[in-house]
Amino acid sequence: MDTRELIGKLHQTHALTFEEWIRVIEGRSPDAADELFRLARETCLAHYGRGVYIRGLIEFTNYCRNDCYYCGIRKSNGKIRRYRLTEDVILACCRQGYELGFRTFVLQGGEDAYFTDARLTDLIRRIRREFPDCAITLSVGERERASYQALFDAGADRYLLRHETYDESHYARLHPACLHAAHRQACLRDLKDIGFQVGAGFMVGSPYQTAEHLARDMLYLKELDPHMIGIGPFIPHRDTPFAGKPAGTLELTLYMLGLLRLMLPKVLLPATTALGSICSDGREQGILAGANVIMPNLSPPDRRGDYALYEGKLSSGAESAEGLADLRRRMEGIGRRIAVGRGDSLNQ
Ligand code: SAH
Repeated sequence: MDTRELIGKLHQTHALTFEEWIRVIEGRSPDAADELFRLARETCLAHYGRGVYIRGLIEFTNYCRNDCYYCGIRKSNGKIRRYRLTEDVILACCRQGYELGFRTFVLQGGEDAYFTDARLTDLIRRIRREFPDCAITLSVGERERASYQALFDAGADRYLLRHETYDESHYARLHPACLHAAHRQACLRDLKDIGFQVGAGFMVGSPYQTAEHLARDMLYLKELDPHMIGIGPFIPHRDTPFAGKPAGTLELTLYMLGLLRLMLPKVLLPATTALGSICSDGREQGILAGANVIMPNLSPPDRRGDYALYEGKLSSGAESAEGLADLRRRMEGIGRRIAVGRGDSLNQ
């Protein structure tokens, strides 16, 4: 089967074998990509219509105990100004977001030991009480199962934890020896068992990544069947060990988005900040390749520069909550509209 036939098979059956994944990735061409994006858009419209979901992202701490080689807020980066938002400031971000129309708040941060279960559950309960009609999403890395359970019981609904790369040896080239792919995958399994709507995902074009690694990611995601999949290009940060490494491309990221849409038709697929950061209309192109979620930044503007995961990370304009009017125009420009409501996954 050639690439277009493989795309046809994926469209029909929502699955490929390991060898077929490698071939569909390595054999891509602009024509095959156009065909893929057409099918992916059609699939997305059939399930979700023209609405693009928005989630308000609150980057509430950039302290992190981990030392991931790619990440700008890694522990060993002594050059960044560390911050953590107080509960009151986080609540104020939610209020501002609510006024703007957000019904999902995503609390993301480094693995910050200050945020014990007690502190996080207090925070979640406060948000839950004040915004009973909103979804609360957490993205705070690897924790014990009992901790995840406590966060869920306090009222969190969703959890984003990218698996980063399925392959253990590739994972080991991106992380220090104390971090393991298998543990991250076990966390995702626990989160799902507990009842969270989960988001997994990976960086596209991370150092040493091959088509085989991407093929394993696709097989893993098919099996995990998460509610959301976040992917974006790797972008180097100057104060990390990967400073000189090449960034992932727009082209491959869009292609992977299209493949994900055909593999898991009902999955929530964000056009991520990283995609918008490597190309001025990257998010629009992501939507046109099959994505249906955008996560504007609700963090206090004077802190955004400090949550620098990579170089040139967007945090204003259409990327920001205040820039919602701009985002609305951009979506209308591609025949889509911003959806109101929590935007739960259809993939239950
Ligand atoms: N501490 C949380 C949040 C991590 S930041 C956690 O462990 O899940 C969110 C995501 O940003 C990461 O999962 C990673 O995939 C992505 N990221 C980090 N550094 C990046 C870089 N240099 N380029 C692109 N994406 C990056």
